[in-house]
Amino acid sequence: MSIFGTVTVKNGKYRPRGDFHHITPNVPIRDEDQAWRLVGVTNPRDMTYIHTYGGEAVFFENLAKGKIHGTRCDNPDCEFKGTVYLPFRIHCPDCLARNTVVDLTDVCKKTAKIHTFMVCERSGAFNTLEKPIKFINVEFEGVSTILMSYLSMGEPKIGMRVVPIFRTLDPTYTITDLSWVPEGTPAEALPKGFTFG
Ligand SMILES: [Zn+2]
Repeated sequence: MSIFGTVTVKNGKYRPRGDFHHITPNVPIRDEDQAWRLVGVTNPRDMTYIHTYGGEAVFFENLAKGKIHGTRCDNPDCEFKGTVYLPFRIHCPDCLARNTVVDLTDVCKKTAKIHTFMVCERSGAFNTLEKPIKFINVEFEGVSTILMSYLSMGEPKIGMRVVPIFRTLDPTYTITDLSWVPEGTPAEALPKGFTFG
């Protein structure tokens, strides 16, 4: 049982359960240079944010199963019918029709290449990735967009072939469940919790 609030959906309605607010004691703020005179108090606060994935839920659900889903515009009236998108786009940006969900796992395994990359020695708040973070933009054959992700092993190079790995053990159902390693990396070398799917 989580100490934080949890949510399920029943009959199409959100059902929050548990504590979404926690009382945390105040702590005095004192002035070190003025005989520890009271200046104020800190008011610790935390919050549980309910983040709905909507039409993208299928993408996150399938990452945990070692599958990468993108979308394709199949609208016969669209000038750009047949365009394939990864990252997952619910709607076609050209005709605004609802896209078809397509399984791109094989395309990712066989054709992924580093388009460009950046290595970050520092990170923002709540970062859970190991530093330095090797952010990579990944391109795929037949896909019109590039995907932002991170390389878990090796040093990134432009044009380098990479293959996807998935946090299939204790998935977080967030984008960090998907990462990449150089082609030819042996399964036993993968980071803890990750598999080839
Ligand atoms: Zn379209």
